[in-house]
Amino acid sequence: MTQIQKSITNFGELGLAPKLLSVLETNGFIHPTPIQQQAIPFALQGKDVVGIAQTGTGKTLAFGLPMIQILSRNKGQGLVLVPTRELALQVEETLQKVGRSIGLQTVVLIGGAPMYAQTRALRNSPHIIIATPGRLMDHMEQKTVNLQNVKIVVLDEADRMYDIGFAPQVKQILRAVPSDRQSMLFSATMPTAIASIATHSMKNPVRVEVAPVGTTAKLIDQAIYMVGKELRLQLLDFLLEKEPGTVLVFSRTKHGAKKIASAIRNMNHTAMEIHSDRSLAQRRAALSGFKSGAHRVLVATDIAARGIDVTGISLVINFDLPNNSEDYVHRIGRTGRAGASGRAVSFASPDERGVLRDIERLIKKPLPILALPVLPPKRPQSNSAHTMNHEPRVHSHANHSRPRWGNNQRGGGNGQRTNKFSNPRHARGRY
Ligand code: ADP
Ligand code: MG
Repeated sequence: MTQIQKSITNFGELGLAPKLLSVLETNGFIHPTPIQQQAIPFALQGKDVVGIAQTGTGKTLAFGLPMIQILSRNKGQGLVLVPTRELALQVEETLQKVGRSIGLQTVVLIGGAPMYAQTRALRNSPHIIIATPGRLMDHMEQKTVNLQNVKIVVLDEADRMYDIGFAPQVKQILRAVPSDRQSMLFSATMPTAIASIATHSMKNPVRVEVAPVGTTAKLIDQAIYMVGKELRLQLLDFLLEKEPGTVLVFSRTKHGAKKIASAIRNMNHTAMEIHSDRSLAQRRAALSGFKSGAHRVLVATDIAARGIDVTGISLVINFDLPNNSEDYVHRIGRTGRAGASGRAVSFASPDERGVLRDIERLIKKPLPILALPVLPPKRPQSNSAHTMNHEPRVHSHANHSRPRWGNNQRGGGNGQRTNKFSNPRHARGRY
């Protein structure tokens, strides 16, 4: 691990160009976060970097700023690989916030959107390509993208990118990029087994670790309710009644997300759901409505666990525990971002104590168990619940049209689940 001098407190001291500094100032970014302080100087030197820092601590600009600066001075393209469409769009937004005024051109390659518009944008040789692996592979197969000019590759949420579903695609993509590239990996978590695969193709990478892997964001108050499935909706009812702020509810399955969202609407709260059975338009509407406050609650699968930056989420509820401890860190990391505080409560069944212990081992702290409050009565099922769902009227057709676009998340919810891991493409649809 690299030590840095504590005296660095301004972006100006990191080696960034005056133009970028003034854009940062305009955006209100004065002091670099610890990961930015430590990673940017190495990245600007062209070094390969593995950056580990807690959720919500500014990793996007930690790779984005040096990438923009290097590409503005040298010919060549940058490639940012991310696990979800939402994160791709968000990364582009962040990069453009800084790069727009200096003429940065970007393209987002994600499923659910037409190939042709992306192909057209690719013809203009944008400086940075931001892509999910599935859609990028579709472009590679159709020879509508050429990765020969890529000089910098970033894997955001790198451990996720190398897990069972994405690894074969990521490897294939990296084989298509010249080997003399600069590579950077960023995440809040990095299981050892994945780290060794992920760094395999890197050149003597500098590991910048602001906090030990798995450390949760500082100001998130975490707790557990031991509660069986039959009481969870009533507990959710209780918590939503008590919490006036924005709430993100995680469900392990798409079907669960749909049911929970409908139940929440039946409790007279505004809610939408986001998972891979929804169309891109529906997913964007759900997230932007949540950001704007049009609906207070968002119910999501782990598709929203990684990277998504929504200001001011006050409470994250794990309606069920995630499949692995890393996802727990990322899920609760949707609150407590950029120095804000937040709360995360998780529902666990008595037979999941082992899962809880694994999480505690990763985050290196105990999770307090709260006593169940007196719960409100079970709500009668409302037939009109679904009619309160103000979403674009495209839902029932979404599944059928997706494969046409070489969708990034295809394979879920249409009978292909049984062998999703045998074919990496099917693994895309699991959320
Ligand atoms: P991470 O990738 O580490 O989870 P993000 O890059 O999404 O975090 O950034 C989290 C939030 O912090 C964003 O809203 C971003 O605008 C803000 N942020 C990033 N860098 C700074 C900074 N230097 N000063 C203040 N806020 C920042
Ligand atoms: Mg991030």
